[in-house]
Amino acid sequence: MNFRNFKMVSYVVYGRGSFNQLDEILASQRKAEAPMIFLVDHFFENKPLINRIPLRGKDKIVFVDVTYEPKTTQVDALARSLKEEFGTISGVIGIGGGSAMDLAKAVSLMMTNPGSSADYQGWDLVKLPGVYKAGIPTLSGTGAEVSRTTVLTGPVRKLGMNSDFTPFDQIVLDPELTKGVPENQRFYTGMDCYIHCIESLQGTFLNEFSKSYGEKALQICQKIYVEKEGWDEECDNLLMMASYAGGMSIAYSQVGVAHAVSYGLSYLLGTKHGIGNCIVMNHLEEYYPAGVKEFKYMVDKNKIEIPVGICKGLTDDQFESMINVSLGMKPLWENALGKDWEKIMTREKLRALYEKL
Ligand code: NAD
Ligand code: ZN
Repeated sequence: MNFRNFKMVSYVVYGRGSFNQLDEILASQRKAEAPMIFLVDHFFENKPLINRIPLRGKDKIVFVDVTYEPKTTQVDALARSLKEEFGTISGVIGIGGGSAMDLAKAVSLMMTNPGSSADYQGWDLVKLPGVYKAGIPTLSGTGAEVSRTTVLTGPVRKLGMNSDFTPFDQIVLDPELTKGVPENQRFYTGMDCYIHCIESLQGTFLNEFSKSYGEKALQICQKIYVEKEGWDEECDNLLMMASYAGGMSIAYSQVGVAHAVSYGLSYLLGTKHGIGNCIVMNHLEEYYPAGVKEFKYMVDKNKIEIPVGICKGLTDDQFESMINVSLGMKPLWENALGKDWEKIMTREKLRALYEKL
């Protein structure tokens, strides 16, 4: 048995208003003239948060377009332009949802590692530490703030740069920043967390470490989406911690069927992570009966529409391509279905599942 020895985020600050400590936090990380680069979700352009970013010297705010999920080409272009403009930088601060945080992690790594970020899509391919990086979520659920990956769509695959150099050096968890996320988006990304819990807790890789975090995150999701009526500040506080705990749970286990199938959708159709997982979860009674029942209850209670029929009219080649991407996620399937997963999830069975979506 070889136990995973995994790298975690080095520093964590949690609390409403903790964003105000950013200047102080960054002070010790500044290297001479080299600037801090703030990669900020384009949603915040012209919003008051921008005036609270502690700019010093040559620091720069770069707004990142997260209309589509991060691509290796986008990461490479960002890193290249920063190298051209500044040579070296002190660090990268990602402010936004999973997309902006993942971009920040990847750009940090590509400031020091040669070649293209596409060369590092996989497990433990990154050779050098990146520059200092900090993550500041403004949308809760993905767990990207704690994970050792940054999920990128590249020329041939959608796969993360999974490595010990990938986790943030610092995260600032300030639930105030998640105020005002549109309801549907908040639900989809919140369900990403719920689904992480179900997949981790029902998986064959489960151990007490991931179970204790997974159970806590699940309990918080149930409190928010099943027990409470309406949305308030407490929900923002709670969901931020559920996201963190859900991320910690999968760090020592794995996700499962919903993620494996949703990766295929996102590769072919560009379906975003949160909503894609919801579209798939809606049809997974066979694998997660209790979780899917509760999921459907939460969808109804919160009056959310989950799209259906998104695979209608796709060609055989397109189904094949989704099946290839999905079956390539071997650890996810093994976690979900056990060592003999290939006998259970045949190409025919997966095709039938995609046709239902
Ligand atoms: P997102 O980052 O793509 O953002 C979704 C939308 O919400 C965007 O339009 C964004 O502008 C908006 N938004 C963000 N904060 C807001 C705020 N405070 N107010 C209003 N709007 C706001 O969504 P996400 O679900 O957080 O992240 C999805 C991405 O995360 C995917 O690319 C996925 O692959 C990745 N992901 C990464 C990991 C990981 O471990 N690295 C885990 C899960 C998902
Ligand atoms: Zn996820």
